[in-house]
Parts: sequence; structure tokens; C-alpha cells
Amino acid sequence: MEFDPERVRANILKADTEDLLDRVTVWRAGMEPEAVAMIEAELQRRGIGAEQIAAHSAQRWATALPMPDGTAVRCSFCDRPAVIQGWGWHRIQGRGLAALLSLLPLYRPRFLAYCAVHRPTTTSTGDRHPPA
Ligand SMILES: [Zn+2]
Repeated sequence: MEFDPERVRANILKADTEDLLDRVTVWRAGMEPEAVAMIEAELQRRGIGAEQIAAHSAQRWATALPMPDGTAVRCSFCDRPAVIQGWGWHRIQGRGLAALLSLLPLYRPRFLAYCAVHRPTTTSTGDRHPPA
């Protein structure tokens, strides 16, 4: 995708601080250097400096699952790094073909990744899709 500074800036301004911290740490290797610089400037504006970014990085990488490209496995349900992976039932959203086939069960087994927030709390791996 082409780098569009204005679109990136608008996205950064409305993003959660936690999201921005993840982007300049765990997802940094997969990002445009310009975008990283813009996010770091925004974090600074929110009062978050290099020390807090380093602390967030250490905390995330303590549990993240590294990928060969220098980033990490992403949660199947959000943009946080995953802490565990496993087979689960993933609800297929009713769009396109899935909507046409809506009389069929809308669940299929899928290899899912879960962050600390979406990690199943029981041994069962049910549908952990967060409310839309
Ligand atoms: Zn998640």
C-alpha cells in the first residue's frame, strides 16, 4: 500500500496509546520509518518517552511469539501480539458467500492466535470473538 502521510496521521491521532506503543515496538519492523517517527512524536506529545516505549517493548516481547520478519504473531481478534496459539472455532462473518450460505453452520475450525486480552480463560476453545 502506498504511504499516505495524511491518512497515517489521522489514524495515529485517534489510536489508543496502547495501540501506538505496540506499533513502535512489536510491529515496528513491518512499518514505514516515516510512520514510526510520526507515532513516536505523537507518543511524546502524550507524555510517553523512550523509557516507557522500551519498557512496553520488554513487556510485550516477554510473551510475544516472534515471526521471521522481526514482528510477532498477531492476535486473531485484535491488533495486539498473541501470547498463545491453538485450534478454536472461528465464527465466519456473514459477508459475501458466507451470507449466501447462511443456512449452514457459520463456524469452522481455525488455528487461532490469542493475545493476553482474548486468551481463553477456560480449557475449552469456544468462540472468543469480541462484540463487534
Ligand atoms: Zn486480542
